[in-house]
Amino acid sequence: MAGLYFHIPFCKRICAYCDFYKSADLRLREPVIDAMHRELRQEAGFLPERCLRTIYFGGGTPSLLDPETIQSFIDQAAGLFDCSAVEECTLEANPDDLTPDYLARLARTRVNRLSIGVQSLNDDELRRMNRRHTAQTARNAIRLARNAGFGNITVDVIFGVPGFGAEILQRTLSELLDLDVQHVSAYHLTVEPQTAFGRLMARGKFTPVGERVSEEEYLLVHRMLTDAGFEHYEISNYARSGYRALHNSAYWQGVPYLGIGPAAHSFDGQQRRWAPADIGRYLADPDCHESERLSLRDRYNETVMTALRTARGIDLDSLAVSFGEHRRKTLLDAAKPWIEAGDLVLRNGRLYIPPEHFLISDAVIAALFWEC
Ligand code: SF4
Repeated sequence: MAGLYFHIPFCKRICAYCDFYKSADLRLREPVIDAMHRELRQEAGFLPERCLRTIYFGGGTPSLLDPETIQSFIDQAAGLFDCSAVEECTLEANPDDLTPDYLARLARTRVNRLSIGVQSLNDDELRRMNRRHTAQTARNAIRLARNAGFGNITVDVIFGVPGFGAEILQRTLSELLDLDVQHVSAYHLTVEPQTAFGRLMARGKFTPVGERVSEEEYLLVHRMLTDAGFEHYEISNYARSGYRALHNSAYWQGVPYLGIGPAAHSFDGQQRRWAPADIGRYLADPDCHESERLSLRDRYNETVMTALRTARGIDLDSLAVSFGEHRRKTLLDAAKPWIEAGDLVLRNGRLYIPPEHFLISDAVIAALFWEC
């Protein structure tokens, strides 16, 4: 079964850290929606299978679209694919879009999972990140969503923001636990050059936190959420039992997906394909996709990278079936020193990084790649 992703590339305000493709020019909303319907019609054949398991509206800010517009995409998908087995339909939402009226209308669509961009429950930190909501708006949004019938709520949290230490992070997490969310995605702030933080850093006016703070905050998130009963099932993701993100988990398992909208990527098992991160080009040319066919080595390295970021890790038998017995052997040879150091565990035919060690996963993964 496959996944379907819609990229809604609009935001009312640009956050200081954000590196996703988006535009604050909301006048282009209608033409982009029309073009996305056309793209869905044209590209449906890209998927090797007709049965969908997940639908995901990401961005950008999908909650800038009316619930009826969201449902129109779902209806169109139902005419092109078998959607009878869709288990999860997620909408990313900004807290201040989640009014009682919006939520009541959204509850009448097929969306059954809300991903709310909380980021922090500290107003100074939210202002620093140039978020458009306050902490109180975020608290209300979670309560209102639950009252509207959404029983599967995930929240995004950012940690490692300079000037806002472990104590503020602890308060944010503790409040989110009290608000009884089912899933948390917790990301360390990364500073990309083309963001507001990146530009400040280039002028010497922004200094990222050091390694000690990163580790302290990462372990704080891990400890608080796992103590509260959440599974730490991917480097940035924590879920209550039965609430792992199906759509994102499918990405990490190499399941095919179709992406619709500017900058959206698709994958059919062999080939990656994407529309330009440029609304003007996207609107002007419906056939503007670029693609690359992944070599065996690319697919192996992607498998190792994505699997080792999850608590499940790599299934060595499946790896040998897909890439050959020789690859299993070279992987285990390269893994040996990391296993001895406790950064990798080999158990029951699986190789995995214990979640407390996820923070150094980049170094472990790089050491296990199939080099040219
Ligand atoms: S973080 Fe989300 S809301 Fe903020 S600019 Fe990026 S896509 Fe938009």
